[in-house]
Amino acid sequence: MNTGHEARLLELWEAGLPATPSWRPARLLAAQGSGLGAVPIEQVPIGVRDAALLDLREDLFGSRLDCVVDCPQCRTSLEFGFDVGALRVPTGTESASEVVVTQGAVTVHCRLPNTADLAELDATASSEERVQRLLRRCVVAVDRGGQSLETDHLPASMIPSIGAAMAAADPQADVRLQLECPDCGFQWPAAFDIGAFLWAELSARAARLLREVHELAQAYGWSEREILSLTPLRRQTYLEMVRA
Ligand SMILES: [Zn+2]
Repeated sequence: MNTGHEARLLELWEAGLPATPSWRPARLLAAQGSGLGAVPIEQVPIGVRDAALLDLREDLFGSRLDCVVDCPQCRTSLEFGFDVGALRVPTGTESASEVVVTQGAVTVHCRLPNTADLAELDATASSEERVQRLLRRCVVAVDRGGQSLETDHLPASMIPSIGAAMAAADPQADVRLQLECPDCGFQWPAAFDIGAFLWAELSARAARLLREVHELAQAYGWSEREILSLTPLRRQTYLEMVRA
């Protein structure tokens, strides 16, 4: 009963390993065949993707998450746990596929950023350059008094409203946990990146499993499949014998 689960963990890890951090969440979902409809996973809005990652995380490792974070004020290391449900943004309906922002005579139509958009952003670029690049990809049309405008001619004063409208239309894309330091009382909203969190867990679990396979294969000559088919209790017992 255990074989499938651990073999699947290793398959997912292997699928995610060659990907860059920005592509990896989509790779993991594609590898596990997430049912997100006809739209390729790299083209669904980030919040929709991240909701699917929360489901995947719960399916692989359960609903309890344990985190360690440093207090930004006093640097105390805080350990805390919470349920995956605390990260889910309730949405009555599907995320909007397009946002429309109007200011004066100018109306801007944008689609929501997706994995492919974020992967195109240069991490070394300034935040202004990143915003411009994202707008160039996501703005579908700009209209001023019935005439269409190039995205580059978008009034700069509209950019904050466009960002706010995108965030409001896809709230699951930027989840924050309200934390309080028990030592100094500092409170802050900590961003939570389920893609990075899940990958860290998956990598750690895969590394441990492979190490166990390696030790038992060396000691007993069993195949990977045979070792993974042992229950964790039996595997642990054999490992203790080998290590004794
Ligand atoms: Zn503190």
